[in-house]
Amino acid sequence: MREGTGRVKVAEAAGFCFGVQRALEMALEKARAESRKPVYALGPLIHNNQVVGQLEDMGVRVVKSVSEALGGVLIIRAHGVPESIIKEAEALGIEVADTTCPFVKRVHERARELRAEGYDLVIVGERDHPEVAGIMGWVDGQAHIVERPEDVAKLPPLRRVGIVAQTTQTEDNLADCVRELLSRCREIRICNTLCDATVQRQSAAAELARKVAVMVVVGGYHSGNTRRLAEICSATGTPTYHIETARDVNPDWFRDLAPSDIAGVTAGASTPDWTTQEVIEAIERAVSPA
Ligand code: SF4
Repeated sequence: MREGTGRVKVAEAAGFCFGVQRALEMALEKARAESRKPVYALGPLIHNNQVVGQLEDMGVRVVKSVSEALGGVLIIRAHGVPESIIKEAEALGIEVADTTCPFVKRVHERARELRAEGYDLVIVGERDHPEVAGIMGWVDGQAHIVERPEDVAKLPPLRRVGIVAQTTQTEDNLADCVRELLSRCREIRICNTLCDATVQRQSAAAELARKVAVMVVVGGYHSGNTRRLAEICSATGTPTYHIETARDVNPDWFRDLAPSDIAGVTAGASTPDWTTQEVIEAIERAVSPA
């Protein structure tokens, strides 16, 4: 990704992560290669409307249920799905192209191991996020979801707790939830399933936010990892704006910047570089009007 001029700095790690890039390449390859069968994606392949639109232009149709993909190829997205979905597709004779990120697969495996070893499983993550629904599905729904430390008080009594985390959670939230659980149970086993790409993007975003006058976070409004980047930047005290595209850049945000002030940019794991670059250019025009 282009660096930006002296007035706009981009976080050292930002934008497409390994898992999203891989899922997109696999889906594009399937769409190009498949001439006999229609190609479907179970839910938007990534949380980015622009990329989903591009895939649709290439013939990849988004469906909500497995049965809608009868006779075609069904792409499973990087977030993963419950095991029952894969079995349902196989039972219906639907070809599956599974792009589940290997780091998400690792969470499924850890969750199953903890259950097999008799731990009460706790998932630290967003209740309504597809990745968390997928993890739940690999342990037959036998897990408790904790979004924030406050949720721990609502759990039933637990003796031996095994913890996994949604890959894009923050280290702080995971640590706070673990601390809360420590006060309630005698034995805890933690599998730190945060993915490196997430940890790097979050720390790079915080580092940049501390140095700049305004932070702009680019990514889908439905993207959990982008929302968390915005929360992290905002927590540094720097005014932070979460936007989807260059059209959302408001020149008023930069009006009061001193000539030496810098604007910072970061982007979620499902934000394509070209979207971020258009945003950088829009901010450059706003901070240095012709
Ligand atoms: S954020 Fe991490 S776990 Fe999620 S798709 Fe990207 S690399 Fe995989």
